[in-house]
Amino acid sequence: MFENIIGQAEAIRRLSQDIKDGQLPGSLLFDGPPLSAKLSGALELARVSSCDDGAAWNCDCPQCAKHRALTHSDLLLLGPKTSRAELAIAVDMLDQAPTPASRYFFIRAVRKVCKRFDPELYGNEEARLAKIQPLLRIVMEGLEYCLPGNGDGRLAATEARKLLTTCEKLHDQIPASTPVFQVRSIEHQARQGAWHRRRLIVIEHADSMMDAARNALLKILEEPPEQTTFVLTTSRRQAIIPTILSRLRPYRFVQRDAAAARQVLVRVFRIDQREPDLALDTSIGDYFAQHRGGAMETVTLQARRFLLAVLAERHDDGLVLDGQPLAAMRDSHQPAAAVMAGILKETANFGGSVDAMSWLFPAFLEEGGRLLADWLRDSRSPGLLRFAERFAACSRDSLMRYTAYNLNPAALGEWLLASLSDTNPAS
Ligand SMILES: [Zn+2]
Repeated sequence: MFENIIGQAEAIRRLSQDIKDGQLPGSLLFDGPPLSAKLSGALELARVSSCDDGAAWNCDCPQCAKHRALTHSDLLLLGPKTSRAELAIAVDMLDQAPTPASRYFFIRAVRKVCKRFDPELYGNEEARLAKIQPLLRIVMEGLEYCLPGNGDGRLAATEARKLLTTCEKLHDQIPASTPVFQVRSIEHQARQGAWHRRRLIVIEHADSMMDAARNALLKILEEPPEQTTFVLTTSRRQAIIPTILSRLRPYRFVQRDAAAARQVLVRVFRIDQREPDLALDTSIGDYFAQHRGGAMETVTLQARRFLLAVLAERHDDGLVLDGQPLAAMRDSHQPAAAVMAGILKETANFGGSVDAMSWLFPAFLEEGGRLLADWLRDSRSPGLLRFAERFAACSRDSLMRYTAYNLNPAALGEWLLASLSDTNPAS
């Protein structure tokens, strides 16, 4: 078990030991940097928890088969993101070598997205799925051609490429933060018990939950139902509130060294066959960034952090998101200025003057606008609408200064922050 998790010996050793001793707790935290196999570890734990037959890596029992294709009903997956880059890479892999392994890789990448729209996660809010259904149907039908053993490999690759745009649309509909109704739905699901042996509920980016959602989660974590295991993942452990942390057993995933990263690129992404010229010291992050979608995901999270920090600091009780006033979050968020400073550091000043990175700042603005539009769909807050309009105006201004006047993006980031803050008389 866990043979597919590369370069995480300590976390895997502890997990395997806890399983062997029958000591696996009901609530776990997989904590570690981006792209360190936290989700893969959780999915493998789901397989191991369901298997009737010792959970060897090549076990062919029906439970393992369902987990390998990510269709097992005992797995629920929620939380923002998954990866647009992973989808793009999966299609490339299938294109270049339509083997059973690359077919599985593609199917899993797609189902990681689709599973976030499982009806079990929507409980009484099924109406929200209405506009997603047509996209899901297209994907489900197309996936049939991609399953290993279903027809010829070239056809699978062609279908996969056709599905990519629909998958990306679906990906963009994943809620930016786990909504409270989903936490209530999983609570209900958890109390139903498992279909087979054990239910595994994975919440990715658990640090990005809003107060209402995490209060609801706290209640289930206090007493996880018997047949259910919760796995929360995060790359920002310090942003999870202590009352939740104290209920989770932590398993630490580490930044892989160069040798282990290379092994992932060869064994998982088959780069030796596909991109033999790739530099030996390419990290997994760099590899994903080359497929831009990976870096895009980071930009989305940065835009989100920035907006929430700015909103929390505004003196406007009419600002409501997810049913709660944003001012209530003031204490639990870093000051907006510190958030912007952090983003500038992470992005090396939005790519500074490097041409290849010149898309970063516009993408940050665009994602901010998209997030606000998302939030407005679910909230009728007039304060939020006013803020979104202001953001749109400032964003247009800074984009023009950036593209037309070639102004430094770091200075524009600071200007954006100042213009959005309500201590600014113009706001
Ligand atoms: Zn099995």
